[in-house]
Amino acid sequence: MTRTFQVVVIGGGQAGLAAGYHLRRQGIDFTILGADPAPGGAWQHMWDSLHLFSPADYSSLPGRLMPTQPGETYPDAGHVVDYLTDYEKRYDLPVQHGVQVEAVRRDGGRLLVEADSGSWRARAVISATGTWSRPFVPAVPGRGLFTGRQLHTVNYRSPRDFAGQHVVVVGGGNSGAQIAADLALHGDATVTWATRRPPRFLPDDIDGRILFDVATARRRALDAGRADTGGVASLGDIVAVPPVRAARDAGLLRAQPMFSRLTATGVQWADGSRAETDAIIWCTGLRPALAHLAPLNLRGPRGHIPTDGTRALGEPRLHLLGYGDWTGPASATLIGVGRPARDAAAQIAQLLSS
Ligand code: FAD
Repeated sequence: MTRTFQVVVIGGGQAGLAAGYHLRRQGIDFTILGADPAPGGAWQHMWDSLHLFSPADYSSLPGRLMPTQPGETYPDAGHVVDYLTDYEKRYDLPVQHGVQVEAVRRDGGRLLVEADSGSWRARAVISATGTWSRPFVPAVPGRGLFTGRQLHTVNYRSPRDFAGQHVVVVGGGNSGAQIAADLALHGDATVTWATRRPPRFLPDDIDGRILFDVATARRRALDAGRADTGGVASLGDIVAVPPVRAARDAGLLRAQPMFSRLTATGVQWADGSRAETDAIIWCTGLRPALAHLAPLNLRGPRGHIPTDGTRALGEPRLHLLGYGDWTGPASATLIGVGRPARDAAAQIAQLLSS
């Protein structure tokens, strides 16, 4: 059976919920389909020690401030899951959990959303599927030879899983620094941190509050035709959250250059030196989860779908929310997704009334 709504939102994480909040305010009839069986989006899968890089009141979705977490300036991932669970209930958002969308197709004047448990027809679709389900690992020679454990940021949970082991953490971004710090500060693993270029720590007094302002200022400058301010990337790559700062100041976060290949038992650098290792954790990024949109043939350069704001250039009935700055400044953050969600809902309301 195919059900019909004015709008189908794909993805039940924070971006999907923010979309739902604004669609409801526009009086639009919608449903939200989310692959995860429970609320919380990617936050329910992040590692045990992860904390936000912004305080609670700077991590809120539209309509409801995130409550502070007792004893914590920067809330942990569990607190975010509780907040999103409560948000979904409080606004009575119609999320159907455990529904994996496989394809979105054009179907005359409608879009047809096909999932593992049925299909939906809609006049517009908001895709808000995040990046967590698409871990990226670079092609490094010998990757198939290595006989130890290889995992990605998305599989890492705790230093307990690496007791007594030598672990190579790869990646000079936030997750690489945070996971290397977690392993170095807790448990008894020996850690080598490999980065492609020397790590660039942001100044210690910069947290998510300032990053949000910087991302917004950059978008405003670009929209007004002024020079690119360089945004957050111009400041550095790694937010010096408290554990990263502690590990760095204790001399435990010293990066090695990136190795050139893997061997059966470890890694090898360009000068021929080697290190035996039990595990490699690839903290090498995530890509937008857009496979379900393939039938629409919209892919542009770098695997993104070209958009004007959130609206796909090649399909005006499709909006993309979250993912990264390309769908709105800081739209892949808790505080940043509200505004593009509001704009998407307003544009869809206009489309429906035309
Ligand atoms: P997700 O949370 O990934 O939700 C997408 C949902 O869509 C998931 O539930 C998924 O199951 C579902 N889905 C995917 N594909 C399909 C499909 N085909 N069909 C149906 N459902 C599907 N932001 C901050 O504001 N503050 C921070 O401190 C912060 N720290 C971060 C730390 C890490 C390590 C990472 C990776 C990100 C962090 N972010 C932070 C960024 C961002 O807030 C999160 O990535 C957030 O989870 C993005 O929300 P989302 O709703 O866009 O995607």
